[in-house]
Amino acid sequence: MYAPEPLSPRPRRRVALGLAALLAALLVAGCADSAEAPVWQPGAGGGGTGAPVTTAGPKASGGASAGGGGAISLSATGDIIMGNAPSRLPAAGGKGFFTSVTEALKADLVMGNLEEPLTVDTGTGKCGANSTRCFQFRAPPEYAAHLRDAGFELLNQANNHGYDYGPKGYQNTQKALEKYDLAHTGAPNQITVVDVKGVKVAVAGFSSYVWSNSLVDISKAKAVIAKAATMADVVVVQVHMGGEGADKTRVKPGTEMFLGENRGDPVKFSHAMIDAGADLIVGHGPHVLRGMEFYKGRLIAYSLGNFAGGGNSLSNTGRLGWGGVLKVSLKPDGAWAGGSFTSTYMNSAGKPTLDPDDRGLGLLGELSRSDFPKDGARFDKQGKISPPSAG
Ligand SMILES: [Zn+2]
Repeated sequence: MYAPEPLSPRPRRRVALGLAALLAALLVAGCADSAEAPVWQPGAGGGGTGAPVTTAGPKASGGASAGGGGAISLSATGDIIMGNAPSRLPAAGGKGFFTSVTEALKADLVMGNLEEPLTVDTGTGKCGANSTRCFQFRAPPEYAAHLRDAGFELLNQANNHGYDYGPKGYQNTQKALEKYDLAHTGAPNQITVVDVKGVKVAVAGFSSYVWSNSLVDISKAKAVIAKAATMADVVVVQVHMGGEGADKTRVKPGTEMFLGENRGDPVKFSHAMIDAGADLIVGHGPHVLRGMEFYKGRLIAYSLGNFAGGGNSLSNTGRLGWGGVLKVSLKPDGAWAGGSFTSTYMNSAGKPTLDPDDRGLGLLGELSRSDFPKDGARFDKQGKISPPSAG
């Protein structure tokens, strides 16, 4: 269980600021909050409001400019499992599964990491009848409607569960998503280009598995991103990287092995993708949040953690239960224009739920400071994200 020790006592307070009040406070106080990086404790923040990204407001010198000017907003989440058919599906057939977070997800492009196939039982489940350490997931194809109803528009399939029901299950998932007008990405050489308010956004998915672009073969991965950069204005990487578990919150240089698999070198991979033309790296896979850093003015979110674990498919114990919605505003050339993080947790049914205690945000702030003292993203108490150069 994550239990941060405050450096100095700070009275517990809950702030329920409306957006107008928040903006007013920012205008009056400037960026004062971000100057001394307060140590987090549960309940200290006012987040969990699902407030939209605010790109207006005062800026200190440095990389982040005032946004606007045709900037588009992108939102992203970590792992999404709605349930596990046939016996562990959510109540009411999954209706209302995302209700708590629908407002928080709103953006010009809403993305999620779909950590399970949406398919009938293809008869090729990956786990043996007597296996105990094997996890295979699927939800019925019509569950794509719940993703659509929540506002999702693009789902990533590049992860360790993409082939839980074999290639047929993967294709069934693509078809299920398409039936509900949802875009998908993650297959080898698949570069998904979507029009976002007139700005072309290319998204490609990477993982350790043959059914996706390789996270391990960095030169090949760079070629995919270089090609994507010729096809679109903004390039986004979805990547399933790093070992899994409650103790895997830290980002360290080097390759991470997990269950005998090469889960990539997250720092090396992410930097290389930005060198090749990526504007945003959206990481997931460890089942916990990891810190965020800026590299060449581009944001790397190393892991967005667990977002949904319907049917109790994912443990929600302690920090395994904490996730959130990342929102980023980018200019049409991919430059940073603003961002925010809204904390969520998986409730006892695995449903994504806004977290008024901002536990995810607190953990993210500490991890970003610890792992990236120089280039770590800065978070204010409402979840606003700034590059370090902005103070
Ligand atoms: Zn995974």
